[in-house]
Amino acid sequence: MENCIFCKIVNREIPSNLVLENEDFMAFHDLNPKAPVHILAIPKKHYESFQDAPAVEMSGLTAFIQEVAKKVGVDKSGYRVISNIGENGGQEVKHLHIHILGGAKLKWGHFSDSDPKNNL
Ligand code: 5GP
Ligand code: ZN
Repeated sequence: MENCIFCKIVNREIPSNLVLENEDFMAFHDLNPKAPVHILAIPKKHYESFQDAPAVEMSGLTAFIQEVAKKVGVDKSGYRVISNIGENGGQEVKHLHIHILGGAKLKWGHFSDSDPKNNL
Protein backbone atom coordinates (compact mmCIF):
# COMPACT_ATOMS: atom_id res chain seq x y z
CA MET A 1 0.00 0.00 0.00
CA GLU A 2 1.26 3.45 -0.92
CA ASN A 3 2.89 5.45 1.86
CA CYS A 4 2.91 2.47 4.22
CA ILE A 5 6.36 2.21 5.77
CA PHE A 6 6.17 -1.57 6.26
CA CYS A 7 5.00 -2.12 2.67
CA LYS A 8 8.09 -0.13 1.66
CA ILE A 9 10.22 -2.50 3.75
CA VAL A 10 8.54 -5.48 2.03
CA ASN A 11 9.26 -3.93 -1.39
CA ARG A 12 12.86 -3.10 -0.42
CA GLU A 13 12.19 0.59 -0.98
CA ILE A 14 13.60 1.22 2.49
CA PRO A 15 16.12 -1.01 4.26
CA SER A 16 15.52 -3.18 7.31
CA ASN A 17 17.64 -5.40 9.49
CA LEU A 18 16.14 -8.69 8.33
CA VAL A 19 15.88 -11.73 10.62
CA LEU A 20 13.79 -14.15 8.56
CA GLU A 21 11.68 -14.10 5.42
CA ASN A 22 9.53 -16.48 3.43
CA GLU A 23 6.99 -16.08 0.64
CA ASP A 24 4.32 -14.58 2.90
CA PHE A 25 6.03 -13.08 5.95
CA MET A 26 8.99 -10.99 7.01
CA ALA A 27 10.71 -10.43 10.37
CA PHE A 28 13.13 -7.58 11.07
CA HIS A 29 14.63 -5.84 14.09
CA ASP A 30 12.63 -2.95 15.54
CA LEU A 31 14.30 0.40 14.90
CA ASN A 32 13.76 1.44 18.52
CA PRO A 33 14.14 -1.77 20.57
CA LYS A 34 12.46 -2.02 23.97
CA ALA A 35 14.17 -5.29 24.98
CA PRO A 36 17.45 -7.07 24.05
CA VAL A 37 15.40 -8.96 21.44
CA HIS A 38 12.75 -6.83 19.74
CA ILE A 39 11.66 -8.08 16.36
CA LEU A 40 8.64 -7.22 14.26
CA ALA A 41 6.91 -9.98 12.29
CA ILE A 42 4.61 -8.87 9.48
CA PRO A 43 2.60 -10.38 6.65
CA LYS A 44 3.83 -9.11 3.28
CA LYS A 45 0.22 -8.43 2.41
CA HIS A 46 -1.10 -5.16 3.82
CA TYR A 47 -3.72 -5.44 6.57
CA GLU A 48 -4.30 -2.38 8.73
CA SER A 49 -4.19 -4.33 11.99
CA PHE A 50 -4.80 -7.66 13.67
CA GLN A 51 -8.50 -6.79 13.61
CA ASP A 52 -8.51 -6.90 9.79
CA ALA A 53 -6.44 -10.04 9.25
CA PRO A 54 -8.10 -13.30 8.18
CA ALA A 55 -7.59 -16.12 10.66
CA VAL A 56 -5.77 -18.20 8.05
CA GLU A 57 -3.16 -15.44 7.68
CA MET A 58 -2.65 -15.42 11.45
CA SER A 59 -2.22 -19.18 11.37
CA GLY A 60 0.73 -18.83 9.00
CA LEU A 61 2.08 -15.93 10.99
CA THR A 62 1.99 -18.03 14.17
CA ALA A 63 4.19 -20.72 12.63
CA PHE A 64 6.50 -18.02 11.26
CA ILE A 65 6.87 -16.37 14.69
CA GLN A 66 7.74 -19.73 16.22
CA GLU A 67 10.49 -20.08 13.60
CA VAL A 68 11.78 -16.56 14.33
CA ALA A 69 11.90 -17.35 18.08
CA LYS A 70 14.02 -20.44 17.36
CA LYS A 71 16.29 -18.55 14.97
CA VAL A 72 17.13 -15.85 17.54
CA GLY A 73 17.30 -18.37 20.41
CA VAL A 74 14.43 -17.26 22.64
CA ASP A 75 12.16 -20.26 22.06
CA LYS A 76 13.38 -21.97 25.26
CA SER A 77 14.05 -18.92 27.45
CA GLY A 78 10.68 -17.39 26.64
CA TYR A 79 9.41 -14.28 24.97
CA ARG A 80 6.33 -12.14 24.52
CA VAL A 81 4.19 -11.42 21.47
CA ILE A 82 2.18 -8.21 21.31
CA SER A 83 0.07 -6.59 18.65
CA ASN A 84 -1.07 -3.04 19.23
CA ILE A 85 -4.44 -2.39 17.60
CA GLY A 86 -5.90 1.02 16.80
CA GLU A 87 -6.15 4.13 18.91
CA ASN A 88 -6.45 2.65 22.39
CA GLY A 89 -3.97 -0.11 21.53
CA GLY A 90 -1.37 2.55 20.78
CA GLN A 91 -0.76 1.38 17.21
CA GLU A 92 1.55 3.74 15.33
CA VAL A 93 2.25 1.87 12.11
CA LYS A 94 -0.98 0.90 10.35
CA HIS A 95 0.30 -2.36 8.84
CA LEU A 96 -0.32 -5.46 10.97
CA HIS A 97 2.77 -6.33 12.95
CA ILE A 98 3.53 -8.57 15.90
CA HIS A 99 6.20 -7.48 18.35
CA ILE A 100 8.46 -10.34 19.51
CA LEU A 101 10.18 -9.33 22.74
CA GLY A 102 12.71 -11.28 24.80
CA GLY A 103 16.35 -11.79 25.66
CA ALA A 104 15.75 -10.75 29.30
CA LYS A 105 13.10 -11.16 31.99
CA LEU A 106 10.33 -8.84 30.84
CA LYS A 107 8.31 -6.63 33.15
CA TRP A 108 4.55 -6.75 33.42
CA GLY A 109 3.37 -3.27 34.27
CA HIS A 110 0.09 -1.46 34.38
CA PHE A 111 -1.33 -0.70 30.96
CA SER A 112 -3.43 2.39 31.53
CA ASP A 113 -4.13 5.18 33.97
CA SER A 114 -7.70 4.01 34.51
CA ASP A 115 -8.41 1.68 37.41
CA PRO A 116 -8.74 -1.88 36.04
CA LYS A 117 -11.12 -2.72 38.91
CA ASN A 118 -13.70 -0.34 37.46
CA ASN A 119 -14.35 -2.95 34.76
CA LEU A 120 -15.11 -5.84 37.09
P1 5GP B 1 3.31 0.09 17.02
O1 5GP B 1 3.35 1.19 18.04
O2 5GP B 1 2.62 0.51 15.75
O3 5GP B 1 2.80 -1.21 17.57
O4 5GP B 1 4.82 -0.24 16.69
C1 5GP B 1 5.52 0.28 15.62
C2 5GP B 1 6.96 -0.13 15.81
O5 5GP B 1 7.62 0.03 14.58
C3 5GP B 1 7.71 0.71 16.85
O6 5GP B 1 8.24 -0.17 17.85
C4 5GP B 1 8.82 1.38 16.03
O7 5GP B 1 10.03 1.45 16.73
C5 5GP B 1 8.92 0.50 14.81
N1 5GP B 1 9.30 1.17 13.57
C6 5GP B 1 8.74 2.30 13.07
N2 5GP B 1 9.29 2.61 11.88
C7 5GP B 1 10.21 1.64 11.63
C8 5GP B 1 11.11 1.40 10.54
O8 5GP B 1 11.17 2.13 9.55
N3 5GP B 1 11.90 0.29 10.63
C9 5GP B 1 11.86 -0.55 11.71
N4 5GP B 1 12.69 -1.60 11.68
N5 5GP B 1 11.02 -0.35 12.72
C10 5GP B 1 10.22 0.72 12.70
ZN1 ZN C 1 1.53 -1.86 4.46
